[in-house]
Amino acid sequence: MKTIDKTAPVLVTGATGYVAGWLVKRLLDEGLTVHAAVRDPDDPEKLKYLNSIAEGAPGTIRYFKADLLEDGSYADAMAGCELVFHTASPFTRAVSDPLKELVEPAKLGTRNVLSQATKTPGVKRVVVTSSCAAIYGDNADLKNAPNGVIDESIWNTSSSLDNQPYSYSKTVAEQEAWKIAEQQDQWDLVTINPSLVIGPGINPHATSESFNLIKQMGDGRMKPGVPRVGIGVVDVRDVAEAHFQAGFTPEAAGRYIVSGHNTDFFELAQTLREKYGDRYPVPRRALPKWLVWLVGPLADKTINRTFIARNVDWPWRADNSKGKRELGLSYRPVKESMEGFFQQMIDSGLLPRR
Ligand code: NAP
Repeated sequence: MKTIDKTAPVLVTGATGYVAGWLVKRLLDEGLTVHAAVRDPDDPEKLKYLNSIAEGAPGTIRYFKADLLEDGSYADAMAGCELVFHTASPFTRAVSDPLKELVEPAKLGTRNVLSQATKTPGVKRVVVTSSCAAIYGDNADLKNAPNGVIDESIWNTSSSLDNQPYSYSKTVAEQEAWKIAEQQDQWDLVTINPSLVIGPGINPHATSESFNLIKQMGDGRMKPGVPRVGIGVVDVRDVAEAHFQAGFTPEAAGRYIVSGHNTDFFELAQTLREKYGDRYPVPRRALPKWLVWLVGPLADKTINRTFIARNVDWPWRADNSKGKRELGLSYRPVKESMEGFFQQMIDSGLLPRR
């Protein structure tokens, strides 16, 4: 069992990211010293949101320059830390070279950060932000799960560089993490496996694909309707709490699915109708699968017919009980997360004000 000394600094990789932002805030509010590893500590635009949450918080933030693809680059940031949160990894669907843009930063980055943990005396626990994408690839995979419900014992075996490359990047990165963890006994590994993360970000302009996926429900791209693609969602603040508990709960062990709600894209869009439906082109119809099959690949280049066959009209269900039981997690209502996220997109100019 690992007890973490709260007077020691804590490292967060990818601190500028969407998921990391609320975790950094949680740590600062707890009075901790956060070593924030970022690619560009000299870019004031990138750091202004972190600086604003640090102002007035009892904790302290220190920035360190680091890149996933540069060996040894996390050494300074990790020095003195007992706890490492490794969140950095690209989350985007718009890639032309999935190996270079997704898989290498995910897998080599994990190797870089975790090998550094072994070289850094004092590191006791590493919490890696994995994903439900490392558990399943396409929704059709759920038919092989017991009762059609995924849990932490399952691994994604269907994704590849050609099919769902982001999910493939998260799968190989998490596998690499467990392999490195088993080669030593100085620190233990806990993984947080969130479903699609939603809700207002600390950085309202983060690069996360979460923004793009929800923004299209208000920018007209989904006006004709939205397919029923089953998905799990979780609020970004609940994901931060899960990381925090995974870091500081001595008994925490293994993987944790962190997902508040089993839903689908049509249902998700409907949560926006009451507050925004009169002013924004929020989709009102669920598109039938045959229509998505015909026009989907023309309307959106990131959607192909294999994706449609294996995801549209397939439900998504996950068992989130381990995290509730062992980390004390609870989840915000999905409408609260969706409305907060959408409103932030309006306030920050991502969506026009109407
Ligand atoms: P994000 O806002 O795009 O954050 C990604 C972070 O990774 C950024 O801080 C980025 O730094 C950093 N990064 C990317 N390439 C890097 C490199 N070569 N070297 C150093 N840092 C690099 O996306 P996010 O959604 O917060 O994702 C964070 C983590 O959560 C990822 O591991 C992702 O797989 C996981 N996750 C996300 C979701 C979701 O729905 N959002 C769900 C499950 C898991 P820069 O700011 O310098 O670009």
